[in-house]
Amino acid sequence: MHELSIVEGLIDIIRETAQTHGLNRVEKVTLRIGAMRQIVPDALNFAFEVLGKGTIAEGAEVVITVVPTKARCGECGSEFTVDDCCFICTSCGSGGVVVTEGKELYIDSIEGE
Ligand SMILES: [Zn+2]
Repeated sequence: MHELSIVEGLIDIIRETAQTHGLNRVEKVTLRIGAMRQIVPDALNFAFEVLGKGTIAEGAEVVITVVPTKARCGECGSEFTVDDCCFICTSCGSGGVVVTEGKELYIDSIEGE
């Protein structure tokens, strides 16, 4: 369950951000996570609940936006959304594609008071 180590890192960032903005309590965290990260939202929520205990992020609502995987073909330049695991250009069938989206993992917003 790699969600645990991810959440550990996220809580560090949340703590720092909350300090910078003078928040005493974090109520909502919005995350953008690329489909390639293969995050299980339930597992991430659970990890957040466990690791968030006793931190500024305790009890915060976690909203996860999954970013679909996108790729660009190195042969014909067309861009397309990758379904599951088929990294093959939908226009020309080339396998020489570069992933452009789907690996991101960052905090979109933090709300609190
Ligand atoms: Zn192509």
